[in-house]
Amino acid sequence: MTKARRLVAGTVAAGALALSLAGCAQSVDPIERLGRKATEGVQGGQSTRQPKAPASASAAPSGGTGHVAADAHRRWGLAKPLEFAPRPAHRPALPRAGAGRVPVVDRIPVPAGERTVFLTYDDGAERDPEFLRMVADLHLPVSMFLTDSVASAGYGHFEQLRKAGPGSAINNHTLTHPNLRTLSYERQRAEICGQQERLQKRFGTKPRLFRPPFGNYNDDTLRAAKDCGAEALVLWRASMQIHDIRYAEGSGLRPGEIVLAHFRGPDELKGTTLTQMTTRMLRKIQEQGYRIGRLEDYL
Ligand SMILES: [Zn+2]
Repeated sequence: MTKARRLVAGTVAAGALALSLAGCAQSVDPIERLGRKATEGVQGGQSTRQPKAPASASAAPSGGTGHVAADAHRRWGLAKPLEFAPRPAHRPALPRAGAGRVPVVDRIPVPAGERTVFLTYDDGAERDPEFLRMVADLHLPVSMFLTDSVASAGYGHFEQLRKAGPGSAINNHTLTHPNLRTLSYERQRAEICGQQERLQKRFGTKPRLFRPPFGNYNDDTLRAAKDCGAEALVLWRASMQIHDIRYAEGSGLRPGEIVLAHFRGPDELKGTTLTQMTTRMLRKIQEQGYRIGRLEDYL
């Protein structure tokens, strides 16, 4: 059994314990077949789309100033272009943290009526070049929470993702994806600080945000994360499954919602690719009238 497999199994089991949101156990409808013309390359488990010049050209770092091609949304199965939130003039006030602890953020306190949500992707087992093209084409800001034991073999891929999606960032999701609530303070600290150092060494920047595996944490986690230099512990209240977003409460997104997705591929998603899953998630965000923000602009 590979580490990636163990991680996925663990995620399913403990997801049910945590927020009932993280697991991928869900009955699967026949795989939604997206319009072929619109989603060439998003079909089935295999990519049919060759990297063409425009797509690979747009994979270059744009630094948030690049221009999204007028037809990019159609290439990825969306009816209209995505809307992005401008960088806010001020960072919203976060929940107050106890002394020596990081604040816990499960939703961004955006101004009332501001229909902005945030995309986060966890773990790092799946490295799909098609997803890299999608992020580059659509200029998607993705906040990645990477676990060293599953993502490290593909850190180069995640570095490309970070450069391709303006406003994207790489954050800490521990060294080995344990349930931190079962560990002593010292072992939690080793998991969190260890990954801070790994990521800083590999990517040259110290991650600012930390997400505990399965959303499980305790007071020791808040202290350890602070001690390791993280600025906030980031959770979620909406979670993308294979076909639908699952909500912690209600039946739709709310302003400031942090949406959790995973770097998962057809093996974990019953044949659905990461790009297909992302297209469905983006459609649901658009259908509900939301735009996408860059999490690191707000935290
Ligand atoms: Zn995880």
